[in-house]
Amino acid sequence: MESKENIVKEYSNDEITVIWKPHICTHSTNCWKGLISVFDPRKKPWVNMEGARTERIIKQVNACPSKALTYKENTN
Ligand code: SF4
Repeated sequence: MESKENIVKEYSNDEITVIWKPHICTHSTNCWKGLISVFDPRKKPWVNMEGARTERIIKQVNACPSKALTYKENTN
């Protein structure tokens, strides 16, 4: 059975995939206070990869204090 600890969500645009690990998230609110057009906890899915340019999303991901948010470059 999949434990809650293992849940990992991925959100992609053409260039990158943002990875969110909810069990690490400390709900610091940095991400949505910093970039509500992409990170909006009231919406489902809560990450909208169309909401900003890739560089801006990366900047916000890097500002996540718990590292619950990370990203990887898409390969293909
Ligand atoms: S910035 Fe990181 S720790 Fe804070 S709410 Fe967003 S994902 Fe969670």
